[in-house]
Amino acid sequence: MSNNENKYHRNTQAVRAGIRRSPEGEHSELIFSTSSFVFKSAAEAAARFAGDEPGNIYSRFTNPTVRMFEERLAAMEGGERCIGTSSGMSAILSTCLGLLRAGDHIVSSRSIFGTTVSLFSNIFPKFGLETTFVPQADYTAWEEAITPATRMLFMETPSNPLTEVADIRRLADIAHARDCLLVVDNCFCTPSLQLPFNFGADLVIHSATKYLDGQGRCVGGAVVGSEQLLGKDVFGFLRSAGTCMSPFNAWVFLKGLETLDIRMRAHSENAQRLAAWLEEQPGVSRVHYPGLASHPQHQLASTQQSGYGGIISFELAGGQEAAWSLIDKTRIFSITANLGDTKSTITHPATTTHQRLTDEQRREAGIAPGLVRISVGLEDVGDLQEDLAPGLG
Ligand SMILES: *Cc1c(COP(=O)(O)O)cnc(C)c1O
Repeated sequence: MSNNENKYHRNTQAVRAGIRRSPEGEHSELIFSTSSFVFKSAAEAAARFAGDEPGNIYSRFTNPTVRMFEERLAAMEGGERCIGTSSGMSAILSTCLGLLRAGDHIVSSRSIFGTTVSLFSNIFPKFGLETTFVPQADYTAWEEAITPATRMLFMETPSNPLTEVADIRRLADIAHARDCLLVVDNCFCTPSLQLPFNFGADLVIHSATKYLDGQGRCVGGAVVGSEQLLGKDVFGFLRSAGTCMSPFNAWVFLKGLETLDIRMRAHSENAQRLAAWLEEQPGVSRVHYPGLASHPQHQLASTQQSGYGGIISFELAGGQEAAWSLIDKTRIFSITANLGDTKSTITHPATTTHQRLTDEQRREAGIAPGLVRISVGLEDVGDLQEDLAPGLG
């Protein structure tokens, strides 16, 4: 099945796209565990290196297992090309350093993954790349932050941990009116719940570590977009900088994609039930989940997404003490910052993922001392409720 055949539904692509069989006729995809590839002759080697003949040379450039993952994810997102990377952060790094140069400017939502904030604010300025952060849903602020040097708008939706939803179409229009690219980190939704290209995004970023793997085994990432944006500059960066994905990890993600849709639907269903239940619990002052009618952007989430995802955050009236006590009383939830796993996880953002912010930055970002984030796994919801109940009473 060819990647360019868009006639198949996403569920078929998830299982079939990108497959290349070896002469052995294996049914399940192979892990091509090899660092380099052999040429038939000196002339063939020369032609491959010159780019006159397609084919593999070295696994830092291309590898058949990585390519199967890339073609499958590209098909599912509806993008022309995908590049697999060693982590979600290296997907962001490769995209920015591949496409931007010293003197360029990024406008970014301030509600993005903490390490992305660090990359943009602590590392990029050393190389002459500046970033202005704006409130995710304040579209005037986005427009006003764009300067003649701005090349890229960067956002995640729903945001972490407050599940704030941003209007991709509106931001794409703002970006394109000023000749900028819109980059969307689609980690929380995956192509199973949200297709940013349908709303005008130019590039889609993934931390494959999260839902694409889905069982917390491997670290990896990907960027999806047009051949024109990725083929030369971003792939050229990856080839030279070595931000490539390992074949074993690519194989784990490739198999993860096969079950992505049913997992995302199950995560969303469990999260919806748990969020509704949390809203009724004493001691819970607020629940942030796009699937609840009380969520300020519930309408937007309902048109932009085909499901609401597995991440919920909620505030306890008792502040940090109540949050820590709840976390320590759970027996099923894993106390870990990772998300997108079959295992439910529980996190206190103020003292972990958002610990390094000042009190004022935390207030601005809405990270209250009583805020708890959970990534709802695939356990029985009744068991999860019973696990949380003693800490909420
Ligand atoms: C985890 C995460 C990343 C970074 O991915 P790694 O695979 O950990 O490098 C980027 N964006 C979001 C939204 C994430 O949750």
